[in-house]
Amino acid sequence: MVITATIPIAAQSSSEGFSVSHLDRSVDACTDFYQFACGKWLVANPLSADRARYSRLNELADRNARIVRDILENAAFTASRRTPDEQKIGDAYAACMDQKTIEARRARPLEPLLREIDAVRNREQLIRLAARFSHDGFPSFLTIGAAPDAHDSSVFAAALGQGAMGLPDRDLYLKDDERSTTLRREYQTHVQRMFELLGGGRVLSDPPDRLARVVMEIETAIARATMDRVEFRDPRRRDNPTTVTQLADLAPNIDFASYFRGTGAPPFSRLNLLNPQYVRDISAALGTIPLASWKAYMKWRALDEMASLLTGRFEQEQFRFNGEILSGQKEMRPRWMRCSDAIAGQPGADALGEVVGRIFIQQRFGPDAKARMDELITALQQSLRQRLTDVDWMSAETRERALAKLEAMRRKIGGPDTWRDFSGVTIRRDDYAGNSIRIAADDRQRQLRWIGQPVDRTLWLMTPQTVNAYYAPSLNEVTFPAGILQPPVFDPTIDDAVNFGAAGAMIGHEITHGFDDSGRRFDAGGNLMNWWMPRDEDAFRERVACVASQYSSYASLPGVKLNGNLTLGENVADNGGVRIAYYALMELLARKGPPAAIDGFTPEQRFFISYAQVWCENAADQDFRRRAQEDVHSPGRWRANGVLQNMPEFRKAFGCKEGAPMAPANACQVW
Ligand SMILES: [Zn+2]
Repeated sequence: MVITATIPIAAQSSSEGFSVSHLDRSVDACTDFYQFACGKWLVANPLSADRARYSRLNELADRNARIVRDILENAAFTASRRTPDEQKIGDAYAACMDQKTIEARRARPLEPLLREIDAVRNREQLIRLAARFSHDGFPSFLTIGAAPDAHDSSVFAAALGQGAMGLPDRDLYLKDDERSTTLRREYQTHVQRMFELLGGGRVLSDPPDRLARVVMEIETAIARATMDRVEFRDPRRRDNPTTVTQLADLAPNIDFASYFRGTGAPPFSRLNLLNPQYVRDISAALGTIPLASWKAYMKWRALDEMASLLTGRFEQEQFRFNGEILSGQKEMRPRWMRCSDAIAGQPGADALGEVVGRIFIQQRFGPDAKARMDELITALQQSLRQRLTDVDWMSAETRERALAKLEAMRRKIGGPDTWRDFSGVTIRRDDYAGNSIRIAADDRQRQLRWIGQPVDRTLWLMTPQTVNAYYAPSLNEVTFPAGILQPPVFDPTIDDAVNFGAAGAMIGHEITHGFDDSGRRFDAGGNLMNWWMPRDEDAFRERVACVASQYSSYASLPGVKLNGNLTLGENVADNGGVRIAYYALMELLARKGPPAAIDGFTPEQRFFISYAQVWCENAADQDFRRRAQEDVHSPGRWRANGVLQNMPEFRKAFGCKEGAPMAPANACQVW
């Protein structure tokens, strides 16, 4: 089905939105509110074999995926006269669905790159190879991008990052707990199997098991040089301006002038190092680890990047490790969904997501939905303004700057006003791998061209069909894609209490990011600078420390504790977001007059149920374990219960006695 009329997404259906039928009324709301709010939904939505996790937001994302599929299939197989955009997404999708052609080409799309790697004879050539990888958007031991200059956010600066590894966290290479050692062993087997699929000795200079061992060695060196996730969250740690000349002293084994030239970046003399220690250590490792090992690593990086573009056997082996072992997903998603994700994915993910998004917006997001959202954001911004004015621990000086930052915050809703131009990218109906390679290179070159240029304020970091939202600290801007503005997050047909509990809390969350432990370090203009009076900083630190230790006491599975420092920014944003959404609702109800109870619940109660229901989720144990280590967000249960345990307003709404699990004696409050 192809829908051409402009209807706001939210008007589609409210059956999948907020519902008291999800409640498990046998559970006491004051004992475990998440279970109370989500209990029946959790039972009704068990994990299917092709999921590692299924949440209410996945439910929503599935709805978007079907819309995206219609757009892609229409462009690929139905439309008679196609626009240039439809030609691109249609042929890209058709090429991905054409498994016969993909199978017939076997590993051939990878072979030119393997030959280039084989031809490398010395370290200079290895650096040029790394540059070629960066040029084409393939990560390796050197990565480069463009980001707003931390001290002049109106201009893009070059940023040198850290290296690519196949395991999802550096600690997995370095720690000796059971999960780390098992995953290392499984990963090495996986690398070996992938090399075996490539043809073993016929194509490769060394036996696959040896190559896999060597890859582990290099990736372990990279892991050792990499910052851990908690350190990396601190924007001051990532702020290390330097000059190209100074790099020579820091990393004598890397000819950076040659590297930068080879990436296609415009000339520059200053840049930022996300992690100077990384650059130093990798330079040293280049002097001690043999060239042949680096070449094996580069082959693995190319193979790992391209596996999903090759035959089913590569794809299956990649899924066996990344899906089954790492996340507990038992089966692959259907082909159409994988192709849809591959074509309509995020900017920077080798995808044509914005082309699809443009059609998605035309079909599904009307000006009325945008206006409603705009009003809601204004209400939330006003509520935070009130909080910033009221908090008793802030001095007048800091308060004034905080308010100025809030005033300066910009908003983006739905999708971009100016759309990205893909006209330079050739898309062929019979060349899935080639399409993906051309899109990746175009994307990388587009980013590198930004270096030294003014920051383009019209850019979007997410596609319109995305079920997510973000705050960009260096732009001091919040963005809400059309994709998330639907039930259960936003529903124009439902009462205000429910919309403020879900959409309101989400908006509040993003706005509060400007004032979490990391976002607060940026000023109104998005520059990294300290605008806090010392005693306000102390008061803030004390309050966030309370939140960090609160969430560190929670577990996602028995024995699997959360890392309160890793999830701190998100937890502070959740707590602040729900509080300001609650007060925005109270303000609205005071103006409109209090409505009657619905389904036996007061507006306050419906607000909290609505908030908690956004976070209902089922997940495999492996997924919970993985997220506890990697994810900056807490799992759904604690996004709901952690926040509500801190709110006297919640206790009052449900009549919880102090000391009940949902009403502990020591609550934390930042905003
Ligand atoms: Zn967030």
